[in-house]
Amino acid sequence: MAADRRTGGRAVGRAALFLLVFLSAGPPVRLSAQDYRAQALRILKTVPLIDGHNDLADAIRTRGGLDSVDLAVLQPKLMSDIPKLRAGGVGAQFWAAYVPVTTIDSGPHPAVYALEQIDLIKRMCAKYPRDLAMARTAADVERNFKAGKVSCLIGIEGGHAIENSIGVLRMFAALGVRYITLTHWRTLSWATASTDTARRGLSPFGRDVVHEMNRLGILVDLSHVNDATMSDALHATRAPLMFSHSSARALTHHARDVPDSILKLVRANGGVVMVNFNPGFVSEAVRVYEDSMEARVRALRAGGAGATAVADSIKAWTARAPKATLAQVADHIEHIRDVAGVDAVGIGSDFDGITEVPVGLENVSTFPDLIAELLRRGWSEEDVRKVAGLNALRVMRAAERVAAETGNGKN
Ligand SMILES: [Zn+2]
Repeated sequence: MAADRRTGGRAVGRAALFLLVFLSAGPPVRLSAQDYRAQALRILKTVPLIDGHNDLADAIRTRGGLDSVDLAVLQPKLMSDIPKLRAGGVGAQFWAAYVPVTTIDSGPHPAVYALEQIDLIKRMCAKYPRDLAMARTAADVERNFKAGKVSCLIGIEGGHAIENSIGVLRMFAALGVRYITLTHWRTLSWATASTDTARRGLSPFGRDVVHEMNRLGILVDLSHVNDATMSDALHATRAPLMFSHSSARALTHHARDVPDSILKLVRANGGVVMVNFNPGFVSEAVRVYEDSMEARVRALRAGGAGATAVADSIKAWTARAPKATLAQVADHIEHIRDVAGVDAVGIGSDFDGITEVPVGLENVSTFPDLIAELLRRGWSEEDVRKVAGLNALRVMRAAERVAAETGNGKN
């Protein structure tokens, strides 16, 4: 007010000067979105961002193999390529050696398919030596990061890949496989999938698989298994374990997500849950919509609708679907932090495996936006660094330690 300015002009001037000094000396009171993004990029120069799950290898396979895709240049139809990995500040990527469950019924054998995927990942990394480098251990990831390269880690998706053979499991370890997702969509004789109505968990052989993975230093990945298998594995394991691409069921009631009861066990186990970006796993509205779409497709088929009519219907329904958002992914990260602790949460995008993406998280170049959102919500740099990569590195290191103690990690 004018009267205040007249009577207290000198005091206001002093206060303004004090404020200026305070602002220039301390942290900015309010940052813009661009400032948070710049801060995120700065942080990702000091810690390798480790993404738990990416299906680029299978996307390349279905496009005809490595020669049909040049990852050195932008690939608009892929969610991952080298320019986007660089823009996203990615330090290490667990590439999924995905093995379709259909290989259980008809060739090639699941183990052969897994070997071909491992071969593709290794050749992909070897093809771009300026940007990519293979890694087996946490120390490898740190060394590659210092050398300015993105680490390639291998995770097999689907325990059917071992074809019930501990010997095959040991050979996968020898090839550098760092995690195995115990199941994919279909239940095995020794582990139960999340999509199954059966309540059983691990069989005695399943426990043997977990123990051998511990001895070999392969991380047990519980994404895709049912709650009983999660619980059995958490009780059987001697090492911290992981969910390479799963979100929180308290926020989205999907069987692929992790319930709070299991999150509490993960806290005690010292493991990590790497949050999946799949819209149906992070948005309850999308999940409900997808369920209703499946019911609609079943009804159409039962009514004798042809393939084209079903495809048209799916297209129309998808166009009207609600969208998941970057903020919802951040909500899942915060929920897992609240229940399991800040040491138990990471990022497992599932890029190039998912067909829809949250608004704001379209591809691997957008990771800094997610980190920026956490900073905007008041997360400390220390906690952000844990989510970005330090938690995953700690779990890898712990698994390496257990392997050294229980059999020296020898095959
Ligand atoms: Zn998956």
